[in-house]
Amino acid sequence: MRKKITLVLAMMLLILTASAKKGPKYVFYFIGDGMGTNQVMGVQYYLQDVEGKYGFKPLCFTQFPYSGLVVTYSANSDVTDSSAAGTALASGEKTDNNVLGLLPDKETPVVTIAEMAHKKGIPVAIGTSCSVDHATPGSFYGHTRHRNMYHQIGTQLSESGFEFFGGAQFRSPMTRDDSDEGNYVQAEKAGYTVVRGYDEYKEKAKSTDKIILFDKEPKSENALAYAIDQKEGDLKLAEITEAAIDYLTMKNPKKGFFMMMEGGRIDNACHANDPGAYIQEMLDFDEAIKVAYDFYLKHKKETLIVITADHETGGLGLTAGDYKTNLKVLQYQKMSKTAFSEHLKKMGLEIGDILTWDEVQQELKENFGFWDTVELTDKQTDRLRSVYVETFGMGPGELKEGEYFEVEKLTDEAARIMTEAAQISWAAGCHSGSYVPVFAIGAGAELFTGQMDNTEIPMKIKKLAGY
Ligand SMILES: [Zn+2]
Repeated sequence: MRKKITLVLAMMLLILTASAKKGPKYVFYFIGDGMGTNQVMGVQYYLQDVEGKYGFKPLCFTQFPYSGLVVTYSANSDVTDSSAAGTALASGEKTDNNVLGLLPDKETPVVTIAEMAHKKGIPVAIGTSCSVDHATPGSFYGHTRHRNMYHQIGTQLSESGFEFFGGAQFRSPMTRDDSDEGNYVQAEKAGYTVVRGYDEYKEKAKSTDKIILFDKEPKSENALAYAIDQKEGDLKLAEITEAAIDYLTMKNPKKGFFMMMEGGRIDNACHANDPGAYIQEMLDFDEAIKVAYDFYLKHKKETLIVITADHETGGLGLTAGDYKTNLKVLQYQKMSKTAFSEHLKKMGLEIGDILTWDEVQQELKENFGFWDTVELTDKQTDRLRSVYVETFGMGPGELKEGEYFEVEKLTDEAARIMTEAAQISWAAGCHSGSYVPVFAIGAGAELFTGQMDNTEIPMKIKKLAGY
């Protein structure tokens, strides 16, 4: 009898240790492109500031129980670009800036955790708010000497065989001389169905083997619309995340999954030093993470969510030289810089004349809250007016397409003044070498604490998930 009990106990112990050792079946890897620690803190101050209080209101992912700091330098610079950082985060190997998925010799391909997972029969999804062949998503399946070899990266996308891709579009579907087949034909031949928009995804997903979900209408910027500019029907990162979960669990319910989702336009907004666009991109990224968090709540023991960034962008400072910020004014910015420039150009073409200062002021009032909800000093008003005179002041007359090329200067000045009003600052229009944060929740999340190199993150995921 006692022998039997000991045997049963021993077996139970064996089962318990075996199941305890089992790593996460579902892995979510979120990368906020350009999301430094100040990008995270700034939006949290903003959320509290709009409620008229000091302090911060946490995002969903900053409440995850484990967090740490990540070192981001590349093989040839303290300030990394997105392809070297993407390669490090995907494979655990440092490489030179602008190199994608190859070692610094620009020849030897690295093996990414997405490729490892896929080789083990685990379904893989790669999503982004930029184009699917851009540096960060490309780092998980692409291997090219330069990140700008978009056509070739698009070819490698089809060759990857990953089950799901989501993003804006292919950036350069045809080669320069068009002698090659386009990326769309290649994808089709490789068994992918390309769907446009979330509705078409829902219609067609069931009857496909592998899928690429693109935005309904490709935008000129080769990315999803900025969150601040999004209109009804525009594809969102949260929808791509939802679709990816739906697709991978529907097609292969037993295998689990690996997915990488990139908040790609935080970087774009910070490169442009566009404060209002940056805030909304951060909130948009958090919305996508909430989708994963809801999934986690239903599969707690089997799910790991890791959030990090490839680098910081813009050298965002949460001060403008005084002991306070005034981030709440950013709620009055209604358009990104890009959209505002387009808007002014379109207006000019519609009236067929140079916009008057009154008309421009009215637009600045409506879209940045200037003089209305956002107080400007006389000096700031003078600055805007002199840029107006410099760039619009060629006198009335018939206006032709392309004549408003300098409208961007006015938009730049408006964004600078918005930044001043928010009492924050930008050090540069490029990346910085700052630490970026890492946050984690779920199975194995406790490994993501303290200071770590960006190359350690995929190695930890690999170890935990058994890729
Ligand atoms: Zn960048």
